[in-house]
Amino acid sequence: MSEASAIIHAKRVKAVLRRHPWIFSGAVARVNGDPADGDIVAVRDEAGKFLARGYWNSRSSIRIRLLSWDESEEIDRNFWQGRLQRAIDVRHVENHIHQQGTPNACRLVNAENDGLPGLVVDRYGDWLVIQALTLGIAAQKARLVDLLAEMLNPAGVYERSDVDIRQKEGLPPETGVLHGSEPPDLIEIDENGRRFLVDIRQGHKTGFYLDQRENRAIVGDWFRGDEHASERVVLNAFSYTGGFAVYALGSLVKRVVNVDSSADALQLARRSIALNGFDTADDDFVEGDVFQVLRTYRDMDRQFDMIILDPPKFAHSSQQVEQAARGYKDINWLAFRLLRPGGILVTFSCSGAVSADLFQKIVFAALMDAGRDAQIIRRLAQAPDHPIALTFPEGSYLKGLMCRVW
Ligand code: SAH
Repeated sequence: MSEASAIIHAKRVKAVLRRHPWIFSGAVARVNGDPADGDIVAVRDEAGKFLARGYWNSRSSIRIRLLSWDESEEIDRNFWQGRLQRAIDVRHVENHIHQQGTPNACRLVNAENDGLPGLVVDRYGDWLVIQALTLGIAAQKARLVDLLAEMLNPAGVYERSDVDIRQKEGLPPETGVLHGSEPPDLIEIDENGRRFLVDIRQGHKTGFYLDQRENRAIVGDWFRGDEHASERVVLNAFSYTGGFAVYALGSLVKRVVNVDSSADALQLARRSIALNGFDTADDDFVEGDVFQVLRTYRDMDRQFDMIILDPPKFAHSSQQVEQAARGYKDINWLAFRLLRPGGILVTFSCSGAVSADLFQKIVFAALMDAGRDAQIIRRLAQAPDHPIALTFPEGSYLKGLMCRVW
């Protein structure tokens, strides 16, 4: 059967040549052939000239995701193997930079940014967790799992394709073992010599926020050498399973107060903190809404030496940016009020729709309302195992500011 071709409107050709990996439905003028969803199609200009090759989905507004711009490159087993190998090999190098301990958890494949649109592969110890975010990847799943099993020999491959964006692809959520054995309820990982328990079945994303690894290390280093470290109190808001807490406790601060709305996350935080040999008190784990808890602390005149704000994604699309901005401003305003002079705010946004520029403006507005002064001491971003393809600015989503507050 010959390959179908999607003919692109003349004014959309430039974007394809610039190697942006998405072709929206409006860019497709017509189709020669009758591709099934998930099939590989050639992308051509009006004159029939080859531009690229990608996978087709008539159910998604992103009609084609591009895989190759080389006409002679077929999208066969070799192709997928080559792309996986390239992504995995570079992690081997990156993960040994600045790392302590025997790190065994990282993102191996970061979708579009690794030339594999729609595919996420994370490693947790001997297990791999994959997310097939698109129909084109779901169609290749068996082959990709085979290749990963052959290349990495994991104890098992577990699928966590239970993400909302699959709806836009016309796909139901799917989870479960795809290869090897059932994973244990909790997998212990080593991150920079810290130990964490990860629930790959029920945890957020694929189980852990690997993208914050470097930022956790920066927080962990902050109070080293501070002669008053043992008096420092840190507020870890949106703590999830205690990632930042384990690092902060490692710099021998007095206390880290973790706030999260999920009792399960806090339970796991408690266990991971204990696993690293730190003592905690019951009131170091506060189940509640950060917006409310921060207000209560303000009313109680509580003060902190460092506040970490790592909220979930507030803006899921550009339409939600304004509302998200109000949310970011509110928590940052409260955090500014709760910091002692000289204290540190570590504040994040993982909303791709909120640019780093806009985020800084929101934090500035919060500062003004709080009547404080502050300086940025570090700009923070996603870890290098979550690279951003220069051809795909959408790949940049995590941004943060570390500020000293007066
Ligand atoms: N900093 C964490 C990741 C945070 S993810 C790490 O390094 O691992 C965001 C967390 O915010 C989730 O655990 C979620 O349960 C929690 N959350 C979401 N909305 C919340 C709210 N309004 N109040 C408190 N916690 C909330």
